[in-house]
Amino acid sequence: LNRRLAEFGTTIFAEMSALAARTGSINLGQGFPDTDGPEEIREAAVRALRDGRGNQYPPGPGVPELRTAIAEHQRRFYGLEYDPDREVLVTAGATEAIAAALLALVEPGDEVIALEPYYDSYAACVAMAGGTRVPVTLRPHDGAFALDLDELRAAVTDRTRLILLNTPHNPTGTVLTRAELTAIAELAQERDLLVVTDEVYEHLVFDGAEHIPLASLPGMRERTVTIGSAGKTYSFTGWKVGWITATPELTAAVRSAKQFLTYVSSGPFQYAVAEALRLPDTYVEGLRAELLAKRDLLSEGLTAAGFGVHRPAGTYFVTTDIRPLGETDGFAFCRALPERAGVVAIPNAVFYDHREEGAPFVRFAFCKKTEVLQEAVDRLKRMS
Ligand code: PMP
Ligand code: GLN
Repeated sequence: LNRRLAEFGTTIFAEMSALAARTGSINLGQGFPDTDGPEEIREAAVRALRDGRGNQYPPGPGVPELRTAIAEHQRRFYGLEYDPDREVLVTAGATEAIAAALLALVEPGDEVIALEPYYDSYAACVAMAGGTRVPVTLRPHDGAFALDLDELRAAVTDRTRLILLNTPHNPTGTVLTRAELTAIAELAQERDLLVVTDEVYEHLVFDGAEHIPLASLPGMRERTVTIGSAGKTYSFTGWKVGWITATPELTAAVRSAKQFLTYVSSGPFQYAVAEALRLPDTYVEGLRAELLAKRDLLSEGLTAAGFGVHRPAGTYFVTTDIRPLGETDGFAFCRALPERAGVVAIPNAVFYDHREEGAPFVRFAFCKKTEVLQEAVDRLKRMS
């Protein structure tokens, strides 16, 4: 393994899902739903397979039906206009979009600012691109993990190439406000930075929180690569269909990297996701309502079990503080949790460069059946 990747080891998600399987624990670690997405969309995938649509290499940028549906989705929900032919690129999940964007846009030695805790692939992809990551830490404030805008401004140097943003934010559940996004937009313009914004949880927002795409702010469409994924919105994490929307120049740049990573993304699922993107608004409203009830069930259960709970404004993760339980080391806590309670969670410390900042935080996923969450809560309340 080369020096760029040596520090990363095995992803925490694989490690913790293997631990759950080995110990027969309830897996609230890795974020994947235990109920598949809509039947009619699965049928659409079967139809595409059977009718021979996408069984051979699809077009590099993605099948036209899907690119058109992505552009329509951005217009319908956000009033953003993207040309499906020049400003949309289909990727193998958001994961490839992140990798291709960084490989295409970062020069060796460039600095990339990311909000810490950050999704684990960010650090690895910045490293593979030869960049240097510069974390800006979100810290607990008024019940949420908040961005310190002064710290963000101070993190920009002459070497900063781009900001890698994520809202709604995994793992903290923070949804950046219009005021925060406006400040980020001003900074990006003032310092001539690009922004790659990972918005895969765009529809999973609660309690009146609003997801605002950075690209919708004045002056930002020109310098923003927006990333989405069918994994989260339609509960098909195994299909690996994601996308970017950006200007023709930025899209072409990301495509230059994508063509040598996967060349194209899996064909038949693209047709099915095109249909998913056209589901009426009631689909996302229903998903949100279901997840809101689950968020509350898990948050209240974790509180009753003695955790400090940061109820998230978005995503399907709850970040907890284990210090009220008399614990300080999230890693040790998560390794012992299967034995103590038959539950698996993720130590947030893996998402930090400043490990000590993340040490007391542990993430639980609530994209699981109600009875599974209830059983997990009962077990945690009985934790030895
Ligand atoms: N970004 C974030 C913030 C995520 O949580 C995930 C899913 N774990 C991804 C990207 C990757 O998405 P995909 O499964 O579409 O590759
Ligand atoms: N995005 C999901 C999570 O954060 C799963 C990611 C993965 O398995 N790579 O849990």
